[in-house]
Amino acid sequence: MSISVKDNGAGASHELALIAAHSHIQGLGLDANLQPKTAAANSQGMVGQLKARRAMGVIQKMITEGKIAGRAILLTGPPSTGKTALAMGLAQALGANIPFTSITGSEIFSKEISKTEALTQFFRKSIGVTIKEETELIEGEVVEISIDRSLTGGHQQGKLTIKTTDMETIYELGHKMIEQLTKAKVIAGDIISIDKASGKISRMGRSFARARDYDAMGSDVQFLQCPEGELQTRKTTTHDISLHEIDVINSRSQGFLAIFSGDTGEIPSQVRDQINTKIAEWKEESKADINPGVLFIDECHMLDIECFSFINRALESELAPIVIMATNKGISRTRGTNYTSPHGLPMDLIDRSIIIQTQPYGQEELASILAIRAIEEEVELATEAVQLLTKIAVETSLRYAANLISVSSQIASKRKSKIVELNDVKRSYMLFLDAGRSVGFLEEFATQYID
Ligand code: ATP
Repeated sequence: MSISVKDNGAGASHELALIAAHSHIQGLGLDANLQPKTAAANSQGMVGQLKARRAMGVIQKMITEGKIAGRAILLTGPPSTGKTALAMGLAQALGANIPFTSITGSEIFSKEISKTEALTQFFRKSIGVTIKEETELIEGEVVEISIDRSLTGGHQQGKLTIKTTDMETIYELGHKMIEQLTKAKVIAGDIISIDKASGKISRMGRSFARARDYDAMGSDVQFLQCPEGELQTRKTTTHDISLHEIDVINSRSQGFLAIFSGDTGEIPSQVRDQINTKIAEWKEESKADINPGVLFIDECHMLDIECFSFINRALESELAPIVIMATNKGISRTRGTNYTSPHGLPMDLIDRSIIIQTQPYGQEELASILAIRAIEEEVELATEAVQLLTKIAVETSLRYAANLISVSSQIASKRKSKIVELNDVKRSYMLFLDAGRSVGFLEEFATQYID
């Protein structure tokens, strides 16, 4: 039996975890038909924004069917309406080892490297490579046994994964399968089910549909595909790394530590070409999988015409991530040109973009998002405190109100209360200005500030 083991340890991308403001987002909150779930408890942290989520569901389907090539997604809508949250939700919906890179348009302008080099690096940060390595199994390791169902029905895709921490179970299941092979004349490629409680093994034949029906029986029944040969005690350990990290490691002038300093300099195109060739070889030999991730470019109107033409071309590349751009800019000048266009983007890029609009939130949705954020930050809010925060969100912005949660919690803990009360929110509102009041203040005391 060949056991494929997924090692989720070192090397996994932790980029998602770092984006704290969105830590409550775990996906798009869609059901099996890719329709948005509305109950807060099971919508993966997503609230409202139903039309945009439904549209993102269609995009998710296009990506999994390989039909998105050459196109970008453009999210338009007012600030704090969840554009970043939607992009991140899509990356998570695509899979655990899908990289997500979030930048703002202005980040690509630096003195050290050219705009196109910066963009190339961000593109390659957003492409994951899973490198597979064969090693011996070590007792007590957490392993996943996976079966590629596409083998069973020919036309069916998908993976069934069985998780176990127990080596004995792995061996036992493997041996039972081999026994079964001889007794029941199960043939290689058959699906067999193993009832964990009784240890009973049943032959399901090769029918995908039947195996899928048995999925509904719950986690007590496991399915394995019969092995082609002998039980092996080797495992395939996988390492997740981004193409950009491989570039840096292999760019002799920089060295591996450059990844941590962020100071990677320009990477020679020959290095990238060699890496692309190597990865293609590994892919061919099933030693590596390529996982196109999501590159999110917020405030994309800050990019200029050179960047846009770079993106236009890069989208055509075989190694392109899913590019999601976001903007709340109206009709404006495209930077680097003298002409105006919708969102400040050139028409040819708009033409190849799928545009999804986000809508402003109603009071109830704002209250739900704030409540989710409070749970995420482990802050208990009194009902009146939630009501005031919601009012603040309506009148100022969701982001400002969400920021007041942790400030109010600090104020509450100072007076040794575990619960944030109305007065704690009031005090934090007085201590920290929102954008509107800050502008008002500046206007009132304009003469005391430098022009
Ligand atoms: P900007 O245009 O200013 O970049 P944005 O449209 O990207 O804003 P986000 O940053 O995604 O907005 O949203 C602001 C905050 O509200 C984040 O913490 C985000 O996770 C949360 N949020 C926004 N929309 C939703 C939603 N529909 N469900 C749950 N959380 C949301």
